[in-house]
Amino acid sequence: MHRPIRASIRLSAIRHNFGIARRHAGSARLWAVIKANAYGHGLRRVAIALDDMADGFALLEIEDALTLRESGVGKPILLLEGCFSAADMQVAAAHGLSVVVHQPEQIRMLAAIRPAAPVPVLLKLNSGMNRLGFPLSRCREVLQALRELPQVGNITLMTHFAQADDEVGIAEPLARFRQATEGLGLPRSLANSATLLRFPEAGGDWARPGIMLYGGSPMPRLASAASLGLEPAMTLSSTLIAVQEMSAGERVGYGGLYQAPQARRVGIVACGYADGYPRHAPTGTPILVAGRRTVTLGRVSMDMLAADITELPEAGIGSPVVLWGDGLAADEVADAAGTISYELFCALAPRVPVVTV
Ligand SMILES: *Cc1c(COP(=O)(O)O)cnc(C)c1O
Repeated sequence: MHRPIRASIRLSAIRHNFGIARRHAGSARLWAVIKANAYGHGLRRVAIALDDMADGFALLEIEDALTLRESGVGKPILLLEGCFSAADMQVAAAHGLSVVVHQPEQIRMLAAIRPAAPVPVLLKLNSGMNRLGFPLSRCREVLQALRELPQVGNITLMTHFAQADDEVGIAEPLARFRQATEGLGLPRSLANSATLLRFPEAGGDWARPGIMLYGGSPMPRLASAASLGLEPAMTLSSTLIAVQEMSAGERVGYGGLYQAPQARRVGIVACGYADGYPRHAPTGTPILVAGRRTVTLGRVSMDMLAADITELPEAGIGSPVVLWGDGLAADEVADAAGTISYELFCALAPRVPVVTV
C-alpha cells in the first residue's frame, strides 16, 4: 500500500475550460499558457490534451519547448520571457519557436544569429506593470530596429496588464497601449485569463489564457470558478491515517496552535507542506472529509495536517479527504491561506503521485 496522497488531473476539465476560453476569445487565436509545468498539471500531458484545440503553447524554458517538439507538437510555441542568450536564440530559431523581445539585449541576440527561417517575434511593451517590456514611447523606434533585421519574421505587439483581476481594471493602460500602437497595423496579444473573461473590449489577435484552463478563477474575489463555468482540473486527495479523541483544553500539532475548547475528534490527514499544501493555511481552512466539508485545526506539518471530524461520526481511518479540487474549490483553500490557486497548483510537490483521469 502506498501513502494515500495523490493528485488526479482530469484532462476533460482542461479541454472543457479551454472551450470556455475559446468562446470568450471570439475570433482571436489562443496561446494555451503551460508555463511552470502547466501550473503543476504536467507539461506534456496538458499539451497533448490541448494539441487539437490550442493555436499555440506559451511557456518559459526553452528545454520545455524542445520537449514539446520532441513529443510531436508542431504548433507555434512562445517563449514568454524570450531568450537569455544568443545561443538559445539560435536553438529557438532552429525549432521554429516564437520569442518575446522585451529588452534591447534580445534584439542584439537576434542580430547575432543566422537562422534558416525568420523568427516570429512578440514585441513586449510596458503598459504599466513595469516588469518586462519597452516603454510605449519607444514602440516605433524598436519596431524599426526589428524590421531592419532579416532574422526577424512576423511581429506581434504584446502587453500584459497588472490589474486585470481587480477593481482598477485595464482601461487606462489599454488606452495608452492603443494610442502608442495606433496605425501600426500589426497583430496584438493582450489578454490573460482575467482580461479575456472580464474585458472583451480589449480584443487582440492572440489571447494568453493560463489559470482558467486549470479551473482556477483569475479573479476569485470577483467571480468564483464555478460561476465562470470552469471545472477543477486538479484534485488533491488523501485519507485519514489516524484519529485522535481530544479532551477540552488539549492541543494539536506543532506549537499547540489549536486548543480544543471542548472535546474534539480529530482526523490526521496524510498531507503536509512537503506535498505542497501551504504551511501558512490557518485553523479553519476548508477541507472535505468523507465527502463533507469541515476545517483544518492547528499548524500544517511537513507530512500531515489535522481536520475537525467532531461532527462526522462516520469518518475514521481510511476515510477519503479532498484538500482541493472536486467539491472544494482551490480558490477557497487559497483564500483561507492568504494566497491564490496559482500558487497552490504550482507548489504541488514532486513526491505526490499524479494520476490522469
Ligand atoms: C502567466 C502569463 C499569462 C497567463 O496568465 P493567467 O492569469 O494565468 O491567465 C499570460 N501572459 C503572460 C505574459 C504570462 O506571463
